[in-house]
Amino acid sequence: MMIRLFLAVLFLFNCTGRKPQGPEEQKAQPQHFECRLYDGLPVAVGTSVVAELEKNHRRILDDLEVANLPVITVEIWANNDNFLAAMERNIGRRYPGATGYVQYEGVYVLNTGDAPHAAVHEFAHVVSLHVNNRIANNPRWLWEAVALYEAGDWIDPKRLSYMVSGNYPTLAELNTDYNSSDHKIYGIGYTLAEFVVHDWSIHSLILLIRTNGNVSTVLGLSEAQFEGKWYQFVKTKYLIINRQQIVFSSKYLWRNFFGDRWNNKILNSLPCWGWL
Ligand SMILES: [Zn+2]
Repeated sequence: MMIRLFLAVLFLFNCTGRKPQGPEEQKAQPQHFECRLYDGLPVAVGTSVVAELEKNHRRILDDLEVANLPVITVEIWANNDNFLAAMERNIGRRYPGATGYVQYEGVYVLNTGDAPHAAVHEFAHVVSLHVNNRIANNPRWLWEAVALYEAGDWIDPKRLSYMVSGNYPTLAELNTDYNSSDHKIYGIGYTLAEFVVHDWSIHSLILLIRTNGNVSTVLGLSEAQFEGKWYQFVKTKYLIINRQQIVFSSKYLWRNFFGDRWNNKILNSLPCWGWL
């Protein structure tokens, strides 16, 4: 029993620098991912990437209403030149600066920064492809928004000067090709999906994927209306210090200043202060 358990753990993530060959290894295939490592990467790198993918696998499939997937190949490089050369062989062109890309049954990442997290982002792209196999970069704003949302790639809009000033990007601007864009989609993509889920539902996000981002049919808005309402959502939630935040901040400071002499009943009766 102990030996079987040990073997199961040993082969659970199946991260090697070669394809599985013998019947034992085939039998020991992991449930959802098959991992291949290049450039002499240690097995531990693949193990951590696949562990993070396994942790998020069911959640992302459930979110996007995909019942199941074939085993997804996960390939990881250490060398940027080798990563880009393989990218060109796989998809016909290079995207310098990218740390990951996908095919219908494959996730390909460069081991830089947080590779497990990057792999989850790419895996969300794979799941999107299984909702609609024509969704890759079509439109690009939605393709990235879904992956950024599912991977939790939130960036505080207060850190983005164009959002603070109200000069928010249009969907057309966000659709610019990776190699010629300003990459603003990576700053605000999470909030685009968050807005759809908040004001409509996660199912509406799926309908957008199925219709290649048809906001008119799915949400009943023109693209300009969608952009404006999205910005208002971001402004209200993240850019304006609203009454709720002021009350919370005031109570926090008051409690820390006066200690326990003030109970919640007294704190709740306090007026909303405008000095924060
Ligand atoms: Zn992406």
